[in-house]
Amino acid sequence: MHEMGLMDAVLRMVTRVCEEEDVGRVDAIVLEVGELSGVLPHFLRECYEAIIEDTPYEHTRLEIETVPGTLYCHDCGHEFRPDLSDLRCPQCLSRNLTPRTGRDFTLKEIIPVFEEEDGESGDET
Ligand SMILES: [Zn+2]
Repeated sequence: MHEMGLMDAVLRMVTRVCEEEDVGRVDAIVLEVGELSGVLPHFLRECYEAIIEDTPYEHTRLEIETVPGTLYCHDCGHEFRPDLSDLRCPQCLSRNLTPRTGRDFTLKEIIPVFEEEDGESGDET
């Protein structure tokens, strides 16, 4: 499955960043998924659940932020949010379209667990 490969790549990237930045545990992984990226958030979640089993990420949350997709029509210059089941320009019905936004799939943020150190009370009210 496409999404499985993606999640695998994401986890590897997260692992690398954590090593570089010396992050112990990860609280959440934030992904940005464009509507036109071809990636389905609910499949991502399923794959994520499967892939984190027995890994250091077992308790890490996955957050998915969706980025709206817009297309640009080369024939009439119209820019619009497409109906994903019918990718045509609503004005001239052209299929000569280029995505303007929402095509990307990115690892947006890695949120580390802020460990509370024993011995020192960090009570702040
Ligand atoms: Zn058009």
